[in-house]
Parts: sequence; C-alpha cells; structure tokens
Amino acid sequence: MKQPNKIIVIGMGFVGLTLAIFLTSKKFNVIGVDTDQNKLNTLLQGSTPFYEPGLESALKSSLKKYLSFTNNLSSVDAADIVFVTVGTPPMRDGSIDLRYIKSSTKQISEWCNNNHIQPVIVYKSTILPGTFENVIKPILKSLSENTTVNPEFLREGSALQDTIHPHVIVIGGKEKPALSLKRFYQKIYEQKIPIKTTSATNAELIKYANNSFLAAKISFINTIANICQRFPDSNVDDVAEVIGLDPRIGNLFLKAGPGYGGSCFPKDVQALLSLTKNLGTGSDFLNAIHKTNKQQAEMVLKLITKQVKSLKNSNISILGLAFKENSDDIRESVSISLIEKLLTKKVNVRVHDPRAIDNAKSVFNNKVMYCTDVSDCLRSSDCAVLLTSWKQYLSLGKEFSKMRNPILIDTRRLLANKKLPVKYVGLGIGNEIVS
Ligand code: NAD
Repeated sequence: MKQPNKIIVIGMGFVGLTLAIFLTSKKFNVIGVDTDQNKLNTLLQGSTPFYEPGLESALKSSLKKYLSFTNNLSSVDAADIVFVTVGTPPMRDGSIDLRYIKSSTKQISEWCNNNHIQPVIVYKSTILPGTFENVIKPILKSLSENTTVNPEFLREGSALQDTIHPHVIVIGGKEKPALSLKRFYQKIYEQKIPIKTTSATNAELIKYANNSFLAAKISFINTIANICQRFPDSNVDDVAEVIGLDPRIGNLFLKAGPGYGGSCFPKDVQALLSLTKNLGTGSDFLNAIHKTNKQQAEMVLKLITKQVKSLKNSNISILGLAFKENSDDIRESVSISLIEKLLTKKVNVRVHDPRAIDNAKSVFNNKVMYCTDVSDCLRSSDCAVLLTSWKQYLSLGKEFSKMRNPILIDTRRLLANKKLPVKYVGLGIGNEIVS
C-alpha cells in the first residue's frame, strides 16, 4: 500500500471518532461514516456526542481541515484504508449481536465492487473467534484477501491518550494486508510500539482473553474485599497493595469496588462465555467472573439495607452514575442497576454526577431527583452511596453535614483517610459486618 491519502472510518462511536480524530492529527484526510445523522449533526457543530477528555477540542481542530462526515458510504469514491468500528452489542442471552458488522460489511462489499477498488479493510470492532472466517469472509469474498482484524484496546476516559500511545497493536489476517497495515502504523507512531502479526482468529481471541483477564482480576479482588468486610481490622487496599508488588500479579486492576460496568467487560465476558457454550464446553471460570460481578452489586445493596433500617420512603443519595470517572457512559453502570433496585423499594433517590446526568435522564425521566450540586444531593439524606471515583469527590467533607442521617457508603474507599462528619462505611474495610 502506498502512503494512504484517504481513509474511511465506519462508525463514529468512542473507537471510531477517536481514531478518526487521531488520524487527522497525522494529516490524513479522513471521512467518518455513521448511519446516525443526529450524531453527525452534533459532530459537524464541533461537539462530541459523549464526553472524553480532550476529544472535543481535538474535533474542532480536525474539522477545520482534514475531517468530514457522511451517512452514506456510496457518496465516497475511493479510499486506501477502511476501518470498521461499528458496535458489537450483547443480545439478551449474552451472545454477540453481529447485525452492525454484517450490515457494514455488506455496504463495504457493494461499495468496493461498484467502484472497482480494493482498499485494505480493517476490523477494529471486538468480534469473537471465527467471526472473520465464518461471517465476514463469505460477505467480502475476494476482498477478504485484503482484510485484517485489528482489535482496539483503548479505555473510555482516556480514549484519545490511549489511541496516541497504544501499549500494543495486534494485526490478524493474511500476510499482505497485515504487512501493509503494520507499515502504516510504524509510520504514524513516532514511538516504538510492539506490533504482533498473527492469524485473524488469534487476533479476535486476544481481545476477549485480554478483557476477560482484566474482569477476572476485578472479580477476584472484589471477592477478597467481601472477606475483608467480615473482619473488623481488615482493609482490601492493604491486601491489594502487597499482592500487587508480586511481579507475577502486578498492581493494576486490583481496586475493589461495586463491580465492573461499561460497554466492554460485561459484554465481552458474556460473549466469550456464550462462545464456550456453543463449543459444547461452557466455562465455570468465565461464569464465575460474571456471577461474582453481579453479586457485587447485591453487596452494595446489602450495605445500604444494613444501614438504613426501612428503605421505603427513605432518601438515598447516589454520588456517581458513570461506570467510571472521566466518562459520561452509563452503559452497564452498577449505579443504574442499583437505582433501579432502590426505586422498586420505593426509595426517594437523588443523584449527582459531574458528567452523566443527561444520560441518566434518558433512563429514569422524573423518577429520581437530579442534582448538579453535591450539597443538594445530600440534603436531608438518610444514606449517601459513592459509586464513581470522580476526583471532585475527594474534596468532599462538610457537605455531609447536610444529611438527615449522616452515613456514607464508599464503594471506592475514596474518602477512607479523611475525617468526615459522617458514619463511614468503606466497601472492603472491615468496620461494618454484613452477613
Ligand atoms: P458505539 O456504539 O459507541 O459506536 C458505534 C457506532 O457505529 C454508532 O455511532 C453507530 O451508529 C455506528 N454504526 C452502526 N452500524 C453502522 C453502519 N452500518 N455504518 C456506519 N455506522 C454504523 O461503539 P464503540 O464503543 O465505539 O465500540 C465499537 C467497537 O469497538 C465495539 O465492538 C466495542 O466492543 C469495541 N471497543 C470499544 C471500546 C470502548 O471503550 N468503547 C474499547 C475497545 C473496543
């Protein structure tokens, strides 16, 4: 592949938009394609449809020169590379929904055939082992010879930085397109990044193995946290700190909490689990990661019911709605499922989040009270539950004195070392016994 002039990115979500903006910073002409015209209208006005640090200002610079959008691939005449970054959401039973992969692949196939072109096609969407071979290849036919599987590892909350500084690049597929893509990446990244070329199936599996392993670490440390909870002089962070010093374990992803959420870990663990079922084996291990995570949300509810004797008509304040800090994404957020449970118990729920209030409104409408100020959220409350590690919450203190019944359940132990005018219950700190 010669130095590419024009690059198409299909799907303007977290992955596609971040990639498109990054590529324009490297002076490529990028066309972002998305079927959602509302999203494109927002982008054309220089706003991102979701919050990611640094992304909106980068979008504004890109729009001035190298970035354009369309909802119709056939309006573009040609391109050297086509990146596919459409969603692969879960079905009700946890298996993967490939409808966007199938529809975008059909569109690419027709577009290439009509224009007599053979760009390098790159699948960045997370797809299960066998998807390239059994689903994509039959649609692309001869175009599949020029196609690679190149999973994405960015994290929401640091999507742009992770795209600028990836820790690894994995390229699966035939040698010719894989080498072309490898050379492309080697040119655009100034720093040396490990690039692994491998089979398409390995590339597909690497992404699921990676996410499932990280999810396993979280479910493991949450299990330890629940043991700590039962011993009055125990603290999960002390345990995590020391086991993290063992180089065979490492200190990342050992932060106990209310359970993992977001658009990736829950769906990827369940999709891999459902693949093992289709393969006839199933997996007790993957099932345990998933079940442990679900139980952790129940543990938060137990901590609340231990403190608030009668939930009916009580006032409970939720601090943090996004599944993680620096993001407004509430997909599979534990806060959302917890609020749903509290509402069924006739609790008056007040919520605060620095970024995710608008997204929560589309779920709860007028069923909860939305607060832009933490003090308002805590006023007359019977219990506050901190669920997201927003750095704004680190400075909280006197705000808790507004509560009717000052109890804080801190699922992230953000405020464990502060003197607060509140009864402090830290998840994984054994000062409260929950049986
Ligand atoms: P998203 O849901 O935010 O965005 C997907 C976009 O694709 C949507 O805007 C949708 O309108 C668009 N789309 C669907 N069908 C289309 C079509 N035929 N043509 C054009 N556009 C179409 O998804 P995302 O979070 O960016 O994730 C994309 C993929 O990357 C998924 O497979 C996901 O698992 C994976 N991934 C996501 C992350 C993450 O943190 N979000 C990280 C790594 C990998």
